[in-house]
Amino acid sequence: MIGRLVSNVAKRLPSVLYRESMMTKPQVVFVLGGPGAGKGTQCAKIVENYNYTHLSAGDLLRAERAREGSEFGQLIASFIKEGKIVPVEITINLLRKAMEETMQKDEQKYRFLIDGFPRNEDNLQGWNNVMDGKADVKFVLFFDCSNEVCIKRCLERGKSSGRTDDNRESLEKRIQTYLQSTRPIIELYEKHGKVRCVDASRSVEEVFADVQRILDKEG
Ligand code: UDP
Ligand code: MG
Repeated sequence: MIGRLVSNVAKRLPSVLYRESMMTKPQVVFVLGGPGAGKGTQCAKIVENYNYTHLSAGDLLRAERAREGSEFGQLIASFIKEGKIVPVEITINLLRKAMEETMQKDEQKYRFLIDGFPRNEDNLQGWNNVMDGKADVKFVLFFDCSNEVCIKRCLERGKSSGRTDDNRESLEKRIQTYLQSTRPIIELYEKHGKVRCVDASRSVEEVFADVQRILDKEG
């Protein structure tokens, strides 16, 4: 009886969802650090050398901002410029969708670098609400860098990035947000022994050598 019920339910479920339940649980590394700490650069190098998919929350938000017909475009644009953190309902849906799409295309792609998330309490709660039990957070890869270096790098990047937030005014706000909202999240993970810290003030190659040591050990 139960067996028949289950198989009937399975038949009624959309095939994608049913398949998903059979898939390996996503393994996630959160990548955090101040603006310009080098998260994106290092993630690109990780992808070249390890079997990870890079999902930048900021990139996903910028794509949603640019998507024609998006109801959130305006809100995202103003939050980014102000260095504020977008309500998690928006971000978590973009992340979830990107993870699902990746795994639907290739079930073996279940390792994710989630870059620039969770940035505050709201982000973390949203992640726990939606993803708890559905993905394993292995650790936080923390790119540690002084505010001065962060600002300098972003201003340099601003010359060619075309980003609306790589200017001095937005950067001051982004640094504030980072110190006030993101650092406490990193400290929270630290208390659980889940932070792998890298000195990110050095050259790309030097930083990546440390990243490799960490990933080779952690898998
Ligand atoms: N952002 C957000 N939620 C996120 C990630 C990014 O609201 O989960 C917004 C926020 O306004 C942030 C901006 O996007 O300042 C740029 O984020 P990104 O990660 O691209 O900047 P980075 O830290 O890499 O310089
Ligand atoms: Mg980035």
